[in-house]
Amino acid sequence: MDFTLSEEHRMLKESVANFAAKEIQPIAEEIDREDKWPDGLWQKLADLGIMGITVDPEYGGAGADILSASLACEELAKASAAVALSWGAHANLCCNNLNSHANEGQKKKYLPPLCNGKHIGALGLTEPNAGSDAVNIQTTAKKEGDRYVVNGTKTFITNGPIADTIVLYTKTDKSLGPKGITAFILDTKFPGFSVSKKLNKVGNRGSATGELIMDNCIIPAENIIGQENRGIAVMMGGLDVERAFFGTYALGIAEAAFAESIKYSKERVQFGKPIASFQLIQQKLADMYTQIEAARLLCYKAAILADSAKRGGKGTEVHQIAAAAILFTAEAACKVCEEAVQIHGGYGYCLEYPVQRFWRDAKLGTIGAGTSEVRRLIVARELIQM
Ligand SMILES: Cc1cc2nc3c(=O)[nH]c(=O)nc-3n(C[C@H](O)[C@H](O)[C@H](O)COP(=O)(O)OP(=O)(O)OC[C@H]3O[C@@H](n4cnc5c(N)ncnc54)[C@H](O)[C@@H]3O)c2cc1C
Repeated sequence: MDFTLSEEHRMLKESVANFAAKEIQPIAEEIDREDKWPDGLWQKLADLGIMGITVDPEYGGAGADILSASLACEELAKASAAVALSWGAHANLCCNNLNSHANEGQKKKYLPPLCNGKHIGALGLTEPNAGSDAVNIQTTAKKEGDRYVVNGTKTFITNGPIADTIVLYTKTDKSLGPKGITAFILDTKFPGFSVSKKLNKVGNRGSATGELIMDNCIIPAENIIGQENRGIAVMMGGLDVERAFFGTYALGIAEAAFAESIKYSKERVQFGKPIASFQLIQQKLADMYTQIEAARLLCYKAAILADSAKRGGKGTEVHQIAAAAILFTAEAACKVCEEAVQIHGGYGYCLEYPVQRFWRDAKLGTIGAGTSEVRRLIVARELIQM
């Protein structure tokens, strides 16, 4: 067993880290304060080659594996969770899903502009009354000739207010429950689509989250992903990758909070000594480090297993590992960030120090892409197989 990254993975991680240090970290506070995505950043992410990081090269992507995408997510999240979140919704929820599930014509049409930074992607599943109970979505798609008329509301959609292309889940037959779900590619220029509001969040500010309305929205039948009433396969097919990917979002935030805590505890002097010399502070640092290292191993393992499953590998261990990875890492990140605020004392509670931002951003990890409670249910279900 070798715990070192391959040369290719190490170089990718380093190049995203360098990019993030130069282009994102210096403006991370401003992104959060102004709740505004920086002008030109999507194009810079495209120039870095990561907008379609896991998309096959023939559609304009980098053809990289899930571990590469996870490493990129970790490095972006260290600088700005908001950037990592929006990029993840684009690169993973939209592009990776299309690359895995769309047909040849759809890939040729929709993926190149998503990979070169001209278009922004999103995924619309959650509704005001269907969050954890995702298969209970109420958005309907009714076939009329060679098109579908879609009606419903989606909420909490990352990039929703700015997206060009949305992977949209609907019900084509409500009587069939989960077996009546159909996934579509929605071009936000289609008639009947609108953004009703941008949500005002406590964290991940700068990553636009919105409520979307489909009011007799017309989607051509050729935009079905897979087959009618088979959307559940698309939905489930992306979940392990999503969990592996999102785990490193929380990991990156925790690492950033830890780095600030080491620095501050060596600089801050109380009782004539740096606070890092006090054993109660050392205990916090040791626990933070341990949580991060354990989380990293789980996340990287989940990414490697998710990649193997994507390439046809056998076994279902990925389901429980991916859910366990995001469950553990998201909760670890919350603990690490809370301790980071504690180590900073009163300054940690003030907006000019970044640890409060990490603390706010980390909380999303236990809610978005499935809550901690739902992840526990998934791990347990896989373990007992009942
Ligand atoms: C910033 C942000 C970005 C998001 N981005 C997207 C996106 O891009 N696309 C998208 O489709 N969605 C997105 N979401 C939605 C996200 O996936 C949901 O918020 C999440 O699935 C939880 O759903 P909910 O908020 O409706 O909570 P609910 O499902 O109402 O849950 C409320 C509470 O009840 C608990 N609970 C629910 N069911 C059970 C159960 N069976 N057993 C025990 N406890 C339970 C939950 O764990 C939680 O604690 C985003 C959310 C946020 C906040």
